[in-house]
Amino acid sequence: GRPRVVVVGGGSGGATAARYIAKDSQGAIDVTLIEPQRTYFTCYFSNLYIGGFQDYDDLGHSYGKLASEYGINVVHDWAIGVDRDAKTVALAGGGSVPYDRLILSPGIDFKDGAIPGWDLAAQNAMPHAYKGGTQAQLLKAQIMAMPEGGTYAMVAPPNPYRCPPGPYERISMVAHALTQMNPTAKILIVDPKEKYSKQALFEEGWQKHYAGMVERIGPDFGGDKVEVRPDAMEVVVDGVVEKVDVCNVIPAQKAGRIAELADLTNEEGWAPVVPATMQSREDENIHVLGDASQQGDMPKSGYSANSQAKVAAMAVRGALTDSRVFPAKFSNTCWSLIATEDGVKVGASYEATEEKIAKTSGFISNTGEDAALRKATYEESLGWYAGITTDMFG
Ligand code: FAD
Repeated sequence: GRPRVVVVGGGSGGATAARYIAKDSQGAIDVTLIEPQRTYFTCYFSNLYIGGFQDYDDLGHSYGKLASEYGINVVHDWAIGVDRDAKTVALAGGGSVPYDRLILSPGIDFKDGAIPGWDLAAQNAMPHAYKGGTQAQLLKAQIMAMPEGGTYAMVAPPNPYRCPPGPYERISMVAHALTQMNPTAKILIVDPKEKYSKQALFEEGWQKHYAGMVERIGPDFGGDKVEVRPDAMEVVVDGVVEKVDVCNVIPAQKAGRIAELADLTNEEGWAPVVPATMQSREDENIHVLGDASQQGDMPKSGYSANSQAKVAAMAVRGALTDSRVFPAKFSNTCWSLIATEDGVKVGASYEATEEKIAKTSGFISNTGEDAALRKATYEESLGWYAGITTDMFG
């Protein structure tokens, strides 16, 4: 029979890999995609939804075309285990699926006990909104319901985590929404990191558009010693209790649990990979993509996962059908919206060395750029969103 590829996770990495393998092998490879959700809601642009620049429904994408146009077997179920000797994936609904090559792109899970007082049972009182879907709706509803002059707090994550500028784009979008409907409200960021992505650009933008609204407590002032009390809606920073109205807790992260169940993760909780092919360092029949992988210099982003997926798809086709394999090249750009038509970006190109995916060159927006350039950068991000979602879902 045809060689079989099973992909676990139909997000930025997994949907792209499944589509490229099916499309480029023209039926020579049997592709199965395992993903529990019928609609994938992107994390990208979920901040813009919170800011009022995107509709929630427009963040959702279905798997219909991957099945009907590309012949992929889309199985809506959870993968609950991998038998690496038998080369099968067990499903929550029962039964198992055999593979010749397995691709895992399960995204992230949160580290247990990362923020004292917070666990998944607290995610309604104190949402993370850091996985796709309804958490962003919940967080937005809570922001809309804040009392006049109330406080929105964010507990920011330690490195490494998905989308380095994501928390700070979120702050920008929350500030934008509050400026419109609750201008005396306050925003408090409790942050364990000394510094963060695009910091000078965000700080300049907050000063310009939302002066006096945003306060950040870094590790010098106890930002790394935080506890939350979801029942009382309190944030305790280095012993000082703050009463807040919304608390957005973004905990420390690790690879999606299935990578751990497959015994592919290291002590930090990520799955180390061989840069040229994205093969697990533990098992050459398994490729790990996107946020779950530990690959070197690339940030954990949708753009990165999509870029890694194309490299892995080429390697898998090469191994299973003897098609040509070209040297691995990767790229990434992370756009962020600071205010209406005020977009900024950071990005880089990468190549595979033995040891890691290594950055070769990069770029970043400058402070003080004019409005026309910022608008063009924002429009570029709209084009990217349309492009990546088509690249994933056809
Ligand atoms: P995901 O896209 O999360 O896909 C993982 C999929 O695996 C999910 O659909 C999940 O349901 C499925 N899954 C998990 N476990 C299992 C299992 N056991 N069995 C079956 N399926 C499973 N990136 C950008 O490039 N640009 C941006 O502007 C940007 N903005 C962001 C803003 C926010 C607020 C956030 C939170 C993230 C943002 N990102 C952005 C990051 C981006 O969303 C992630 O880096 C990207 O989605 C990672 O892709 P992935 O394939 O690793 O995981």
